[in-house]
Amino acid sequence: MYDVVVIGAGPGGTTVSRALAEMDLRVCMIDKDTFPRDKPCGGGFSRGIIDEFQYLKPRASEFLKGIARVGVLHSPNRKIVLEGRVDMAMTLRIDFDNVLFEEAVSVGAIAITGTRAKHVTFHNDGITVGLTGGGSVQGKVVIGADGVNSTVARETKLNQRWPSSSITACRVCEVPVSNHDIIERYTEDLKYHFFANLGGLPGYGWIFPKQETINVGLGIIATHARGLPEAFNSFVHYLKKRNLLPIESDLSRVRGALVPTSGPIIQTVKDRCILLGDSAGHVNPLTGGGIVYAMRAARHAAYVVSNAIEIDGFDAASLGKYQQLWKSDFGDDFRKQLLAQKIFTSPFTDLLFQIGSKDKVIQEIVSDSMAESSDGEIDVKNLAFRTLLVCLREALNLKVH
Ligand SMILES: Cc1cc2nc3c(=O)[nH]c(=O)nc-3n(C[C@H](O)[C@H](O)[C@H](O)COP(=O)(O)OP(=O)(O)OC[C@H]3O[C@@H](n4cnc5c(N)ncnc54)[C@H](O)[C@@H]3O)c2cc1C
Repeated sequence: MYDVVVIGAGPGGTTVSRALAEMDLRVCMIDKDTFPRDKPCGGGFSRGIIDEFQYLKPRASEFLKGIARVGVLHSPNRKIVLEGRVDMAMTLRIDFDNVLFEEAVSVGAIAITGTRAKHVTFHNDGITVGLTGGGSVQGKVVIGADGVNSTVARETKLNQRWPSSSITACRVCEVPVSNHDIIERYTEDLKYHFFANLGGLPGYGWIFPKQETINVGLGIIATHARGLPEAFNSFVHYLKKRNLLPIESDLSRVRGALVPTSGPIIQTVKDRCILLGDSAGHVNPLTGGGIVYAMRAARHAAYVVSNAIEIDGFDAASLGKYQQLWKSDFGDDFRKQLLAQKIFTSPFTDLLFQIGSKDKVIQEIVSDSMAESSDGEIDVKNLAFRTLLVCLREALNLKVH
């Protein structure tokens, strides 16, 4: 019997597996895919992660595909463009996740890959995970890190399914482009772009230049997902027209994926079970960025689960400390980001861009909150204050002239 069975070997599952295996606990990590595996993603993340998770430092050259330094934000009517200098680290998930996977295995986590977890059964003294193909794995506790369509969340009824208003449907493609061409189009700063509410649909398009690829994507709140394929095609057409993508770009590898964007589920813990990352809704509702949160939640989960093993106490009350820890770390971020999402998908977005274009501080706050390099904190008070200030200034000017 294992101490811990982790379902999913994305950033969340590998981080918690590594941390627990490093404490000499017996960890089994199960993933339906074999590694290296790709995951549909923008691949932008906070550079700070590399400092937070020190073991990534010596391996950074294996997954870092450039640091993009300037963010450009386009208004829905495309008439206003806000720019800000905010670093965002760029990666390819096939490389990043593989490094994380190898790290977990290197300290003793046992990996079962190419096999899907089908069922989780809870007993008085442990859990059993049933696998496709008929086998099973036993442990004292299960960690669900199996992404947006989490089997563990469904089996435990912690989240039966996301309502379509709570998830964002995306299309994304990593387009191969020569480095020389990328620098010509995006400068040495690797300017990355966000396009708010493309085609009047709630969500945003992005373009993330990396060393040898340009990541193009569009995410729309799933209630409007029917318009996604057409909106993506016209986005690509627009990017080519604007010279942001080469005319001959190969978009044959475009993929669809979902990401939760309404904040975390209410309860992320149950007797002998913890959920983290996308399975728990640990994603920035404004940007859809979840790599950092999955990894931070994983660290909290490892701490709580190792304590639970020490005292042999796996009830929801003992594991509940995990929920307290992630909430006090980043729970507040989600509330602000959700508010910002509502504002940015409202019919007033063009007006807000107009206000923002008149104030440097607003531009800085907005760019910082869009880039995955921010620590997730949105300075809502200052944003509201500056917005009022601009309105007041404009009103006074109007009176004078
Ligand atoms: C289009 C798109 C763009 C994005 N762009 C960004 C970005 O630029 N920056 C950012 O920070 N975030 C981004 N995200 C979000 C980010 O991808 C996720 O938040 C992050 O991957 C969450 O990590 P995780 O470990 O929780 O889950 P995942 O990375 O989804 O990993 C889950 C793992 O579980 C496995 N699995 C699933 N079900 C089972 C099962 N039943 N049995 C066994 N294994 C299973 C999967 O194979 C997978 O390996 C994006 C998401 C999408 C969809």
